[in-house]
Amino acid sequence: PPSILKISEKYDKVFATGCLDPPVDKPRANAAFVVLARNKELDGVLQSIKSIERHFNRWFHYPYVFLNDGDFNSTFKEAVLNHTSAPVEWGKITPDLWDFPEWAEPAVVKEGIQKQGDAAIMYGGMESYHHMCRFYSGFFYKHELLQKYEWYWRLEPEIKYFCDITYDPFIHMIRENKTYGFTIAVKELKETVPNIFRYASAYKRTNNITSQGLWEMFVEKPEEDETKLLKDDHKSKTPLPQGILNSERGTGALPDIDSDSMEGETYNMCHFWSNFEIAKLDWFRSKEYNDFFEMMDRSGGFWMERWGDAPIHSLAAGALLGPSDIHYFRDFGYRHTTIQHCPANAPARQLPRIPYLETTTEDEKKRLEEDEYWASPDPPRENGVGCRCK
Ligand code: GDP
Ligand code: MN
Repeated sequence: PPSILKISEKYDKVFATGCLDPPVDKPRANAAFVVLARNKELDGVLQSIKSIERHFNRWFHYPYVFLNDGDFNSTFKEAVLNHTSAPVEWGKITPDLWDFPEWAEPAVVKEGIQKQGDAAIMYGGMESYHHMCRFYSGFFYKHELLQKYEWYWRLEPEIKYFCDITYDPFIHMIRENKTYGFTIAVKELKETVPNIFRYASAYKRTNNITSQGLWEMFVEKPEEDETKLLKDDHKSKTPLPQGILNSERGTGALPDIDSDSMEGETYNMCHFWSNFEIAKLDWFRSKEYNDFFEMMDRSGGFWMERWGDAPIHSLAAGALLGPSDIHYFRDFGYRHTTIQHCPANAPARQLPRIPYLETTTEDEKKRLEEDEYWASPDPPRENGVGCRCK
């Protein structure tokens, strides 16, 4: 809404120097927390809600949208409602957003999943995990409960925020004209995504997309004399099995992934860790993102490999967005299971520790340091104040 953009001061006041509550009389963004979960994850969900409520939402009261491919039971609902005074909506995910697509042969898919289980690929043998990754890649933003929202903040069971978040990150992203926000970037397990990059790269090539500078974050550029070797290696890779297709799939869905114009680029496995995400839903709803998803989907990689939504979102961002569209929430203390980001250990202007930096020129590094490039300036919070990273 335009009223948000009229706010004259650049940042909300924070209470780093006192015990004041942050100002809560500002207009809110049209946004919600999105939580996909199952009844059996209640304890982990409560941990997450307690944490986000304590460090942020007790002041801001953003609504929650809970989604599930099954039904939430009354124990789950009551417990959640006991831990927040914000509005909560309960959504069921219909089969068209969750189940095998009609163009895939269930028997082939099931066999593919079983093989990944036999090969001990993490979550590879768990059918539900494949459904979840595909849902978060191409369907969550199509759920009817999300239609009225412009922004979402993803929340998972068993996460923890370490620092008070005393400003509204949605408003911050709107002001700075950002599309996608992350707090941790890590490397993906190679064996879960053997073919993901050749399809993403082919999407980019067949649609004549030129990088706006973010694609390079995900690319390992070979030395000159390695290029031919890599090309040969690339060609010797087994493409995704085509048996997944039934007659409904039609033709022309997949680009020629063996084209020479791929220049031997490979995926460096870097991705934004998507269990935390603050993003603009319109980007996911765009034709470009959906074309990308559809092409990736039709390769069968969500089933015959175990493509996560994190590398899918990341490679889509790499193809379709530029660094200035991305916001690095370096001031958020965040942990999920074993990986954490702690602002108390990271000076405000420390650069993100991602391979991208290794490939940037001195000039680009300077711009990164000046913060023009990657992220909007940090809110004026003293570094690490109020963060207990344990
Ligand atoms: P990990 O973080 O990669 O280990 O994956 P999780 O098990 O945490 O799953 C990611 C998210 O999807 C979490 O919010 C889970 O609650 C949710 N999730 C995973 N599988 C299912 C499922 O089969 N049904 C539902 N409703 N949620 C799921
Ligand atoms: Mn998780």
